[in-house]
Amino acid sequence: IIVLAVESSCDETSVAVIKNGIEILSNVVSSQIESHKRFGGVVPEVASRHHVENVTMVFEEALLKANIDWKDIDAITVTEGPGLIGSLLIGINAAKALAFAHDIPLVGVHHIAGHIYANQLVEPLQFPLLALVVSGGHTELVYMEDHYQFKVIGETLDDAVGEAYDKVARTLKLPYPGGPHIDRLAALGEDTYKLPRVWLDKDSYDFSFSGLKSAVINTVHNAKQRGEEIIPENLAASFQASVVEVLVEKTMRAAKEFHVKQIIVAGGVSANKGLRHALENAVKAQGQFKLTIPPLSLCTDNAAMIGAAGTQAYLRGHRSNMEMNGQSGMELKSI
Ligand code: ATP
Ligand code: MG
Ligand code: FE
Repeated sequence: IIVLAVESSCDETSVAVIKNGIEILSNVVSSQIESHKRFGGVVPEVASRHHVENVTMVFEEALLKANIDWKDIDAITVTEGPGLIGSLLIGINAAKALAFAHDIPLVGVHHIAGHIYANQLVEPLQFPLLALVVSGGHTELVYMEDHYQFKVIGETLDDAVGEAYDKVARTLKLPYPGGPHIDRLAALGEDTYKLPRVWLDKDSYDFSFSGLKSAVINTVHNAKQRGEEIIPENLAASFQASVVEVLVEKTMRAAKEFHVKQIIVAGGVSANKGLRHALENAVKAQGQFKLTIPPLSLCTDNAAMIGAAGTQAYLRGHRSNMEMNGQSGMELKSI
């Protein structure tokens, strides 16, 4: 089975060709980060315009690299939501037009299902599994008994981890997106600032990061008022230590309670070195789970992951039609 995949939910225009849901024949990603940097975040109108400008070229390059014919493509899979509506619609309309022109089935995919299935491009998924989803807009623990069966057992009550990273980075006057910069600084510093760990209820798998974010902002603000210097490396390290400790503890506890075989990590923040190391160590110490974390290029937004998820959705009979519209607040549903 060969699918063409399209992702345009935020600020990456991406098209991929995926074989059997596991093999990447091509995965072209055009990032707009440079255009959004001066605004300190993604500007929806700017994002839509870039998608329009880039989408044709990205399609051509992905098809050329994969070296396939339209008649070899079994389905066109595309991110249906969640995301910026103007951005989503560029990818969806391109996918619809091509599906119609070449008479190929169209399959709408949830963006987070995509992040989860990025792991299947690394190695086969082993069920039951637990997915730690950490991205710019999501922080969730998802239990999966089988392919495309999603049960959200915990989620953030306020900020997503990536969002907290980006806001803390902004406070430290680091460029957008801030996650990688905080990660880099954290490796150079030490956990010297006393920042909170927010556990919520004892058995809760939910998360909350807005208090931690405020604590960092207050630390910077208070230091400034007292005329003291903060040490950015140490503040980054302290922030990251708090985030990682909570994420790893809850993930390990859920993995034990739900008796999973595999733990997978999904979303942009899975690129975080501190999180990767801490999870690797925790899993090694536990000795009973298989841990999979995608390579950096498959952690952030890309179409290959949409093709991997879309192949499963297609195999399970999911079909979209020409009425498909973007859903900015789409729910993660089992198929
Ligand atoms: P969502 O997937 O929830 O719709 P999104 O697509 O905008 O949101 P992703 O592209 O999955 O988010 O991830 C982007 C986020 O990942 C940003 O917040 C970015 O700062 C963060 N990020 C990327 N690399 C790292 C890193 N090394 N450490 C921490 N955060 C990182
Ligand atoms: Mg992005
Ligand atoms: Fe994403």
